[in-house]
Amino acid sequence: MSELSLAYIFHNQQLLVNEKLELPKVETLASDLQFGSGDNVIARDLGADETIPEGWHLVSIRQLISSWSTEEFMRASRAVQLLEWRRNHKFCSHCGHETEIHPTEYAMVCPACQYRQYPRVQPCVITVITRGDNEILLAKNANNKSNMYGLIAGFVEVAETLEEAVQRETLEEVGLKLKNIRYLASQPWPFPSNLMLAFHAEYESGDIKLQEEEISDAQFFKFDQLPEIPFKGSIAHAMIMHVIQKQPI
Ligand SMILES: [Zn+2]
Repeated sequence: MSELSLAYIFHNQQLLVNEKLELPKVETLASDLQFGSGDNVIARDLGADETIPEGWHLVSIRQLISSWSTEEFMRASRAVQLLEWRRNHKFCSHCGHETEIHPTEYAMVCPACQYRQYPRVQPCVITVITRGDNEILLAKNANNKSNMYGLIAGFVEVAETLEEAVQRETLEEVGLKLKNIRYLASQPWPFPSNLMLAFHAEYESGDIKLQEEEISDAQFFKFDQLPEIPFKGSIAHAMIMHVIQKQPI
């Protein structure tokens, strides 16, 4: 009998777990994505014709952020991103031939032209902006129907430094100039494959001018009069707590 592996079984961004949010143990298949070295952990996609066994259900991995430890969530995050990458690289992007899974690396290899495709992360900057000792800029996303106010964030463009991306996104979204842009921390964010790079910056000049397709409102809030903010477990929450309560990130 083959050894059982702990399995991350996904249906898109939903993960199969039991009532206690534990992962199933399954017999390993050749097509499974192995991960971790020799610790019997695999990831696979739920087959289109497979039914979900009794006692198990699918939960969105977003939901697991608040229930699981950071370490557990990061492992699930790694599993979902690697599976998604493998699913999206079945063909060579150079010559179009069908690819093969590299036996030892996370790489999809083209047998015709040898081109290798590796998993990619999208760098994304997120900035907590303060003014003086007791004000923080928070902005409401135009596509978000809730009343939550978050931080200014956006993707890094080609040939841009991280600090330039912080300043550009802030100018575009709220029309403000920043000073003292400093790196704080990072967090992999599997929606779908981002690396969030957190910065703290201080307001330098300008009046708030909204980019209306992106932002429906933005204001400087006093530290003791905050609106609804992003949930615990997100890097935005940690950044806000860092500037307001001087908590480490
Ligand atoms: Zn090729």
